[in-house]
Amino acid sequence: MSVLITIDKIRNIGIVAHIDAGKTTTTERILYYTGLTYKLGEVHEGTATMDWMEQERERGITITSATTTCFWSNHRINVIDTPGHVDFTIEVERSLKVLDGAVVVFDGVGGVEPQSETVWRQADRYRVPRIAFVNKMDRVGADFFNVIEQIKDRLKANPVYLHIPWIDKKDEFRGIVDLIKMKLAIWDNESLGAKYEFVDIPQELEQAAEAGKEQVIEAIADHDEEIMEKYLSGKEVGEDEIRGVLRRLTIQIKLIPVFCGAAFKNKGVQLLLDAIVDFLPSPLDLPPVEGINPRTNEAEVRHPRETEPFSALAFKIMTDPFVGQLTYLRVYSGKLVTGDIVINSVKGTREKIGRLLRMHANKREEIKEIGSGGIGAAVGLKNTITGDTLCDEDKPIILESLQFSEPVISIAIEPKTKADQEKLGISLHKLALEDPSFRVKYDEETGQTIISGMGELHLEIIVDRLRREFKVDANVGRPEVAYKETISSSSVAEGKFIRQTGGRGQYGHVKIKVDPLERDSGFRFIDSIKGGVIPREFIPAIEKGVKEATETGVVAGYPVIDLSVELIDGSYHEVDSSEIAFKIAASMAFKDAIGRAKPVILEPNMKVEVVVPEEFMGVILGDLSSRRGKIIGTEPRGGLQAIRAEVPLAEMFGYATSMRSMTEGRGSFTMEFSHYIKVPEMLSPGIKTRVGGV
Ligand code: GDP
Repeated sequence: MSVLITIDKIRNIGIVAHIDAGKTTTTERILYYTGLTYKLGEVHEGTATMDWMEQERERGITITSATTTCFWSNHRINVIDTPGHVDFTIEVERSLKVLDGAVVVFDGVGGVEPQSETVWRQADRYRVPRIAFVNKMDRVGADFFNVIEQIKDRLKANPVYLHIPWIDKKDEFRGIVDLIKMKLAIWDNESLGAKYEFVDIPQELEQAAEAGKEQVIEAIADHDEEIMEKYLSGKEVGEDEIRGVLRRLTIQIKLIPVFCGAAFKNKGVQLLLDAIVDFLPSPLDLPPVEGINPRTNEAEVRHPRETEPFSALAFKIMTDPFVGQLTYLRVYSGKLVTGDIVINSVKGTREKIGRLLRMHANKREEIKEIGSGGIGAAVGLKNTITGDTLCDEDKPIILESLQFSEPVISIAIEPKTKADQEKLGISLHKLALEDPSFRVKYDEETGQTIISGMGELHLEIIVDRLRREFKVDANVGRPEVAYKETISSSSVAEGKFIRQTGGRGQYGHVKIKVDPLERDSGFRFIDSIKGGVIPREFIPAIEKGVKEATETGVVAGYPVIDLSVELIDGSYHEVDSSEIAFKIAASMAFKDAIGRAKPVILEPNMKVEVVVPEEFMGVILGDLSSRRGKIIGTEPRGGLQAIRAEVPLAEMFGYATSMRSMTEGRGSFTMEFSHYIKVPEMLSPGIKTRVGGV
């Protein structure tokens, strides 16, 4: 499948959606109609091409962002799969970072759901141009124009519809009016929708189509003077002209073109593919990527040209059962050729590029190079993890990496046998390479391995993968909140480590000051030593001693965050002072200092949104309050009520089950980490027993 494709004909897109909106079905149909899958696999039979991992199939959700390449109208479309569940927002963000445009799928009945809003905000953050696809137009109650209103109201976006669904008197979804062509598209059921044709618009839709076309012209005229002039003077605006201006406005995120269809009923997918080609950007249409030159610390840019120095971002690591470890790369500039030696500018190490692959729906294609703007996978890279930059050794750059939030939930995991013990370590290491939002820690005291992640489901999936993919048998504890500690006042303390036991002694002495910092500031070390009271060479050891000591707080042993430690004084001994002595002294001083600085426990506070029918409002509000929740607001949403609140994570375990029973199964909710807050005094002492105990 060596097709020569120039950069302007590449589309790197993601399909994002609220869970169940039909992302998997739409993706599958795209692969089918582009001729790469030969059998229509249905999600409920668990054969969806994009769902690579076993448990994804069982759960019916897509977790990994595998990329799949397909071809349409002489364009190469790289589909970067994105997950729909908020526990995996990190996966969504990582894919948004490397794609150039997105198709946002909405359910024609459900419309803009809370999760669609979350994804939309993320896409805004990364400035990803979007088109909207209102799916499931065949369902009773599907309302295209209502979804458009919701896009305006809830997402504060500027939609312009280019389709009108034809729903006949019997409530059947028959076809789609294309408002640029001013024709009706109808699909042939026999060929599973592979064949379709454009016919004249039926009389009953003529008026709506005229109004729709007017709406398109008006929307683009608002942003384009030439069109405005033509529009005002009553001149015809040509099809290509409309497409051209719309393309520009979509790329600038001034407008969101909206399309409709029913992926499951094989209607509308080819028009969506046309829209991807017509309106979503190629790598050339976007600003050059920015990064930092690690030698000079100056900002630099890279344009998507083969003549520029090579740069690429590793955005996904996956273990493929047949080829081993795959590192998915998005090449921003220059090109990557097999046999090349490049550097990982984040780690400062060399990587040799052995094999390069491009993944299609049903096969891997061995390729010789990945050009600017392209996406592919390298086999067997040694030291590169998600978020690292690979680049030309002579022209190093570190591309803006992905941002990960801290994990908020942990579980203890214990291997069942000695053999499992070994496998556990190796497997967890592999999983952590794939997913930087997942952490592993060994607890010396209890001898347990603790894994932490973004939510209950996130960790469940990891444990599941351990069992299935890595065949590790392990006992798993109950989920625990990832508490932290901090201080609420300043203090000064000294640490002295002196040993005099014949021969050479030990001498380290430091005086430090600790100060609380704002939430989210992390840890800061300030060296204010003057006049060599402590020689330079010992300062790094002191910093290290303090840093290590922050891992275990004095209240309940949780990591200490959001504080600064200033080294203000100390002394040394000509002969006896050593790095280790200063390190120990620093750690002693730290423990003492935070003990006097009114230490407190912090807990993760979650942003929660519950959507329920009106009659359950009272019980849900009461329940959230009893969970120490703070109600932020409520608003009507498509016949239901949406309640927004902030609730400590500790109170949210098992919420899915209890909410379901309170609302007779009619409620839904989403939850994401917001910020750390102080645990109320009265709860702090008993915190260990409360954890996970709901
Ligand atoms: P995802 O969670 O967004 O990936 O959604 P899926 O593609 O798994 O679809 C969720 C459910 O909706 C599945 O049962 C699909 O068969 C169904 N579905 C998808 N597209 C359509 C459609 O166009 N019409 C109808 N009626 N059902 C659909």
